[in-house]
Amino acid sequence: MADLFDIPLKLNSDRHIIHIDMDAFYAQIEMRDHPEYRDEAIILANDPRLTGGRGVVATANYQARKLGVHSAMSAVEALKLAPHARFVVPNFKLYRKTSQLVHEIFHRYTEKIEPVAFDEAYLDVTNDLSTFDSDLDLAHHLQQTIFDELKLTSSVGVSYNKFMAKLASEHNKPVGFTYIDPSQIREFLNDLKIQEIRGIGKKTIPKMNDLGIYNGYDLYQQSQATLIDHFGRAGFDFYQRIRGVDDREVEWKRERKSIGNERTYGPFLSEEADVFEAFHHLANLLETSVQQEKKHGKTLVLKVRDSEFKTETRRRTNLDFMENKADLFYDLALELWDELGGFQEPIRLLGLTMTNLVPITFTDVPLDLYGV
Ligand SMILES: [Mg+2]
Repeated sequence: MADLFDIPLKLNSDRHIIHIDMDAFYAQIEMRDHPEYRDEAIILANDPRLTGGRGVVATANYQARKLGVHSAMSAVEALKLAPHARFVVPNFKLYRKTSQLVHEIFHRYTEKIEPVAFDEAYLDVTNDLSTFDSDLDLAHHLQQTIFDELKLTSSVGVSYNKFMAKLASEHNKPVGFTYIDPSQIREFLNDLKIQEIRGIGKKTIPKMNDLGIYNGYDLYQQSQATLIDHFGRAGFDFYQRIRGVDDREVEWKRERKSIGNERTYGPFLSEEADVFEAFHHLANLLETSVQQEKKHGKTLVLKVRDSEFKTETRRRTNLDFMENKADLFYDLALELWDELGGFQEPIRLLGLTMTNLVPITFTDVPLDLYGV
């Protein structure tokens, strides 16, 4: 009877979503940079024997995890579980920088990136497949590039929505690569324990058990009305997820692709010296803006509008990123100005803009690459 009220679901399988999760990220960075750690259980936390018992585990490598150590556990408890483990003081600055390097690689593939944590993100590559054979091909290339450049492994899940992509990346860790096709939904979801299903929390599990729901198959058997009855709005989400439906977007922020300033002059600039003066000002503004945004670019664009409203732009693209220096911007602006023919009419507007921008990444990250 309840089925009469079920809202029909549409499975949207048109998207190509990747979930990527760096394997034991902090621990892996430490093991990369300290080969001597590699065969040991490593716990990233202040050693409780040196801190009088204080401290919390940031993360642990897989060897330590096998002994039961996990993040957010007290360091004392971790020491009991793994008395021979090596405690390493976390270097969050390094992990943050490394995360930026990973993100810089993501950006080569798509701009639709939703970071979930330092070490985890969703990518919507639906519109970025033109130079790849498939979403799998892109995902594989991405995983390989991260390894080649940073010597860090990740686990990658590819599917048609966020829920399924995340399940896929969790399916086989570490160094996993899993694809879930819409035809494999039941195969993947039926055997899942409900506690493995995202969104089903500690409070929900006993309630589900009371209803005889222990795994994905049990959950799939429930009507929409029953689930909404017992779990409210979340019940509808469960009903959708267990059918492989998840319409949530990858929430990404559009990156500013250009930075710069335009100035309108009244009275018009009627001497070339005034124009040069204005270039100085614009070049300084530009230096400040790009520094604040922590970006650098390869292309400088000069825009000139004269008193007759004739507007021209001229651009210069370097092979390498330009240094964020006002003097350099000024010199380039003068060259572009000359290319436009120099002073002819009084000037109404000038603009100096940097495009092809990317975040400035850090070049001082120690990459003690280990030969794999
Ligand atoms: Mg991770």
